Amino acid sequence: MSVKIVIVGAGPGGITVANRLAFLAPEDWQIIVVSASRHFTFQTGWLKVALGQENPQRLKKPLTNLLQPRVTLRLCLCRGIDVTKRMVVLDGGRLEYDFLVLATGCVPNPSMVDGLQEGALHFHDEAAALRLREVLSQFEGGRIVVGVGGFPYKCPPSPIEFTCLLHEYLVKRGIRSRTELVYATPLPRVFHMEPLVPIFEERFDEEGIVAATFFTLERMEPDQKKAISMDGQELTADLFVLVPPHQGAEMVRTNGLGDPKGYLNVDRTTLKVVGLERVYALGDGTNLPTPKALTAAQKQGQVVADNLLAESQGRELRSYNGQVGCLIEVGNGLATLAIFDYDNPPRPPKPTTDLFRAKRKLQNFVLQSLRLPV
Ligand SMILES: Cc1cc2nc3c(=O)[nH]c(=O)nc-3n(C[C@H](O)[C@H](O)[C@H](O)COP(=O)(O)OP(=O)(O)OC[C@H]3O[C@@H](n4cnc5c(N)ncnc54)[C@H](O)[C@@H]3O)c2cc1C
Repeated sequence: MSVKIVIVGAGPGGITVANRLAFLAPEDWQIIVVSASRHFTFQTGWLKVALGQENPQRLKKPLTNLLQPRVTLRLCLCRGIDVTKRMVVLDGGRLEYDFLVLATGCVPNPSMVDGLQEGALHFHDEAAALRLREVLSQFEGGRIVVGVGGFPYKCPPSPIEFTCLLHEYLVKRGIRSRTELVYATPLPRVFHMEPLVPIFEERFDEEGIVAATFFTLERMEPDQKKAISMDGQELTADLFVLVPPHQGAEMVRTNGLGDPKGYLNVDRTTLKVVGLERVYALGDGTNLPTPKALTAAQKQGQVVADNLLAESQGRELRSYNGQVGCLIEVGNGLATLAIFDYDNPPRPPKPTTDLFRAKRKLQNFVLQSLRLPV
């Protein structure tokens, strides 16, 4: 019996589901990807764009080159879903489904914190990364505060990784000696995962980076160049680089499909959307207790594809174990690796140049692996 799968969103999550099904699903299944954009964007590279080390055009790949030939691409925005009629509402049409997959990601929203939009820059979308690049290129010394402007946000290590790489950038430009570099976080230590803390602390000590912990941003006063925490602490800086809190996709928010921030409520093992029949979700747009990371979206994509097949054939569903793997740059040409799941914390090795090289090759590796069923 022909089965119609509609996948909304073509980031690593949506692409993985589509391509795995293209290899594994019976020939008469229809696999349709609805995407608002004709390109896949390798968001990881925005960090390097901000530091003037990457061209944003190089991060975009046409979806037609990444999706398997049997996958149909519908280039349009999905406006909503009608679960009773098993239908998605598109810009200019409707599409029926037997199974629906929501892989719509999340986006930074600085307006969630008073003054953050005007008071700080960031690198979590292309336009913001280009703006930061411009401002950094004109920076001639002073005090920079980098950090976390609110939760949740994608790629938990990205602000601390950026801090280490910004140190190198300032050294190369010859202005590190006249720049004070501060890392601000709401956490009681520099990173939430305890095994990674000594690695970053060592780097901070070596490079003279100051940590401001327990700093939960409440508001900014851009005119005063000031950030104020919930308990009244103040940080001043010539330049703030604060990753804003993120929220779920507009379609999820406007249709009331998720929690108040627009994150879909998903069963953490089956990846089915709680309370909705024949609807799965994965990746950054969910409230799964995993980091919002590309590798998590890829792993979840495999489980979603397998579970769609299993559910349609009346077989037992597979369990997602929360697996994520992150290569994390710590500066000085070094990187470490954190692999973990719901039950096992990471055991990161001492940072090495080999892992650094692996991280540099990540983009090509990801683009290749997205095309495969695994
Ligand atoms: C600066 C930065 C550095 C990062 N570094 C790393 C790293 O080193 N390692 C790592 O693992 N991860 C990293 N990440 C995180 C990684 O990029 C994301 O976790 C990953 O892209 C999530 O994939 P996704 O498929 O869930 O969502 P996305 O990649 O965001 O894709 C969602 C897609 O859905 C589309 N969409 C949304 N709504 C609709 C709609 N209504 N209709 C049609 N289409 C829609 C969007 O346009 C988008 O194309 C980084 C992210 C950033 C910003």
